[in-house]
Amino acid sequence: MQEKGTISIHTENIFPIIKKFLYSDHEIFLRELVSNAVDATQKLKKLASFGEYKGEVGNPKITVSIDETAKTITISDQGLGMTADEIKKYINQIAFSGATEFIEKYKDKGDEKQIIGHFGLGFYSAFMVSANVEINTLSHQEGAQSAHWICDGSTEFEISEGTKKERGTDIILHIAEDSVEFLDKFRLETILTKYCKFLPVEIEFDGNVINNTHPLWTKAPSELKDEDYKAFYKELYPYSEDPLFWIHLNVDYPFNLTGILYFPKLKADFEVQKNKIQLYSRQVFITDEVKDVVPEFLMLMHGVLDSPDIPLNVSRSFLQADSNVKKINSHITKKVADKLAELNNNDPKGFEEKWNDINVFVKYGMLSDDKFYEKAKDFCLVKNTKGESFTLDKYKEHIKANQTDKNENIVALYTSDKGKQDLYIQSAENKGYDVLEMTAIIDSHFIGMLEQKMEKFSLKRVDSETLEKIIDKDIKLESILTADQQTKVKEVFEKAIDNKKMTVALEAMSLEELPVSITLPEFMRRMKDMSALNGGGMSFMGAMPEIYNVVVNSNHPVVQKILNETSDETQKKIAKQVYDLAMLSQGMLTGKDLTDFIRRSVEMSVN
Ligand code: ADP
Ligand code: MG
Repeated sequence: MQEKGTISIHTENIFPIIKKFLYSDHEIFLRELVSNAVDATQKLKKLASFGEYKGEVGNPKITVSIDETAKTITISDQGLGMTADEIKKYINQIAFSGATEFIEKYKDKGDEKQIIGHFGLGFYSAFMVSANVEINTLSHQEGAQSAHWICDGSTEFEISEGTKKERGTDIILHIAEDSVEFLDKFRLETILTKYCKFLPVEIEFDGNVINNTHPLWTKAPSELKDEDYKAFYKELYPYSEDPLFWIHLNVDYPFNLTGILYFPKLKADFEVQKNKIQLYSRQVFITDEVKDVVPEFLMLMHGVLDSPDIPLNVSRSFLQADSNVKKINSHITKKVADKLAELNNNDPKGFEEKWNDINVFVKYGMLSDDKFYEKAKDFCLVKNTKGESFTLDKYKEHIKANQTDKNENIVALYTSDKGKQDLYIQSAENKGYDVLEMTAIIDSHFIGMLEQKMEKFSLKRVDSETLEKIIDKDIKLESILTADQQTKVKEVFEKAIDNKKMTVALEAMSLEELPVSITLPEFMRRMKDMSALNGGGMSFMGAMPEIYNVVVNSNHPVVQKILNETSDETQKKIAKQVYDLAMLSQGMLTGKDLTDFIRRSVEMSVN
């Protein structure tokens, strides 16, 4: 047996569901009704431009007003209005969009971008806050009669002759008991400016026009000056410093996207700067939660994005799934990379000055997005301790002659803390080596990435090995000690240090080098950093002891002095003193060891 049928929907049941679940945020009723008023105005202008409306258009505006005693909010427009038949068609049929119908009908006559409506559901958001909704309207059509409609949010409505004398529509909301908050002037004004600040038709509230009908992003970049962009930035973020630079987006294909993205001056506290980009659809504000539209690494940028391809009632899950959004995302990434490349080409000096503020964006982008890396590797800068900047390729050239090791690897040296590693930086520079500053938190990741991506190139922190070995050129200084003497010196130091974490080794170095240096091999330090970043989550690190190298310069006069001493105690004391000095230079001398060192030093300076 087989039976076919149609599922029936009872409007009485579905209506409350629409009211309740269509929009999570009740305040958007205002956005919807003002958008409809804008649509009605734009449609009228269109009809006039086609010659289908012959009357006077004038300068139609929208007025929003509150009547506290009557507990009503009224949204009035001077748009195309509706006849009684049109109310029946457009308002009484839920999910029948007059906007879509209008676009269909006039689609050959150009630009549908000006119409906001889409789904034929917006009007009903009025019932989220109203006990009753009235429409009082007069159509633009010649000889039209004013029409009046009233509905209490059930499926019953009344339609009768209206009282409107001028072309346009009044929507009168009789605010429900549980929504009286919206009758507050300041509350309503806040909502109005939030959603309608850049709508294209003048909106008046409490005697003031609250919107800028021609926001900057809708204008042609060729018509705009730097001052215009800065002024618009101030309009968006009143108390901010000037932005560093900006990107004016204008895309028609394969999706519609306009907007302006600003690079702000970075503040130490990133979090306050996040979530500042505003998302619009046809100049109607949608949200400032743009996580899924804008790549994560660009979340620190500011500005506006406007795309009609993003519907008004977006939800997070929608944004994540939408293919347009994904395209927008990769397009923005590309545009930002192009803009940075252009800045660097046109004005390398200016780019260098901005680098401090933008290097975190760029490095983060290079780490998180391969396509961005490919573009950014040409303008990404590194800076040395002398304050000179280089692109990556130029830097390789710069250090090649002096810093190539026996395996033809170019070895770049860096410091993560100029103050603490000063001794090592000084020695490296005395030897003619260059030292990069890699002091940002992101730099430890950045270093790892550079080594992976660049061939025959490695980076070592200045204190990761002794200067003789850090760039291994296979040049060995002869030790002036005999094998026996070397064993003896090693023993003295091992006894003096008495710590399993410290491995003592002798190395023949030049006389300028310190008698003892302490180094933590690069790979071990990176493991340590990584495990710290992961909250100590790498459990095997816990088991792995941290082994430092204690390198004794066998050519240093102190070593001779130790060998010349006859008393074990004195030998130990000298060894301990130079060892402590090395510990001190690494910031590792603390507690009792530090106290002993100070006492011993005082004692030695008296003797
Ligand atoms: P949408 O705007 O998505 O089409 P709405 O539910 O917001 O859906 O509105 C339904 C329709 O009612 C509109 O398309 C339009 O034809 C008509 N309408 C609503 N408000 C007005 C208005 N202020 N003036 C003229 N027509 C209106
Ligand atoms: Mg609408």
